[in-house]
Amino acid sequence: MNDLNNILVIEDDQFQQQIMTKLLSRLTSANIVLADNGIEALGKLDKGLMPELILCDLNMPHMDGVEFLRCLTERNIQCPITLISAADKDVVNSVIKMANSYGLSRVTDISKPVTAKQLIATLNQQMLAPINPKKGKQHYQPTEQEIYQGLKNGEFVPYFQPHLDTKTDKITGAEALVRWHHPTQGVLSPYYFLDTLMKMGFSSILTEVIIKQSILACRSWHQSGFNFHISVNVSQSDLDKQDFADNLLRLLHKYGLQSKYLTLEITETELSSNIGKLLNTVSRLRLNDIKISIDDFGTGHSSLKQLIDTPFSELKIDQSFTKNMLTSSKHMAAVKFSLMLAKQLGLKSVAEGVETIEQKKLLKELGCDILQGYLISKPLAETDFIKLFKNDTTEPLLHH
Ligand SMILES: [Mg+2]
Repeated sequence: MNDLNNILVIEDDQFQQQIMTKLLSRLTSANIVLADNGIEALGKLDKGLMPELILCDLNMPHMDGVEFLRCLTERNIQCPITLISAADKDVVNSVIKMANSYGLSRVTDISKPVTAKQLIATLNQQMLAPINPKKGKQHYQPTEQEIYQGLKNGEFVPYFQPHLDTKTDKITGAEALVRWHHPTQGVLSPYYFLDTLMKMGFSSILTEVIIKQSILACRSWHQSGFNFHISVNVSQSDLDKQDFADNLLRLLHKYGLQSKYLTLEITETELSSNIGKLLNTVSRLRLNDIKISIDDFGTGHSSLKQLIDTPFSELKIDQSFTKNMLTSSKHMAAVKFSLMLAKQLGLKSVAEGVETIEQKKLLKELGCDILQGYLISKPLAETDFIKLFKNDTTEPLLHH
């Protein structure tokens, strides 16, 4: 810890200031700079102070820690920050999440009263971690030209993640998830290309490509004797297009798939507050037996009114709730609430992100209709998906 020159301590309580100074000067040779509140701290930073670590009380007069964090991001200051607080862990966690969303990546917390042990842990954690902890494979960034070529060459394909019916313990369908069979990079998930592709204005072309292939795949399953459903993700901008419903119905007719087997998933975060156009398309689709699902439920801003006004057929619980439901009572409450709401509104419920048998058991007990997640299967290429059913009548997926 020799390269620590300045530690900024923001704390309004004189006694706490003394304790922190004493403890820190025992642990490091760094210069301890004190500030009584956020405003004073910002003044020092504006004058050119460059601390390697900021220890910040959350509860302070004049400018509290929350406001201080916001001001830091305005100044583009990236510095490890440790929040010191006597507040509930829940509250501190939400402040850390807020700071992360502002782009402050290294925020930790310690609870009051501060001990030497906590400070040692903090110094180790904050000062020894690399500034940009990028793990895993290098981030591959395709060029617009590559994406354009990929679309032209039909390299974007749907992968299928099975849906398990909790009542029968059988696969009843799948969600189509786009993948890019890249000529040199292998199979790429949307993480690598979707933002760029959307910026290029190709989002509706991609939707078309995936819908068409998904309809064809579903029809071929039916021809093999498996009457599965298929769910495809669409964006609100797709649905806003005047001819979307007509084109879709024409495709279904052309490829011979009954519309009742198709579900369109709309991500909740995409729903705009002006739903006039959306209702136009959605009503027409529903009149023609196509199902509409509200995807990633709980992560967006949809109001109950919107949920009531839009003729959804299905509610998909976001995976973040499923994943944490057994360890966090709040996530559990969100899952229970969503399932209850789905039931009361007469919507089919689907839980995403099911990874453990415990989650599966509980979701079934709570009345969730459909499960999707790695416990059942990862998303599969079309040939692998159908192999599961064609080659093995014991249905190998269903051993859980
Ligand atoms: Mg989806």
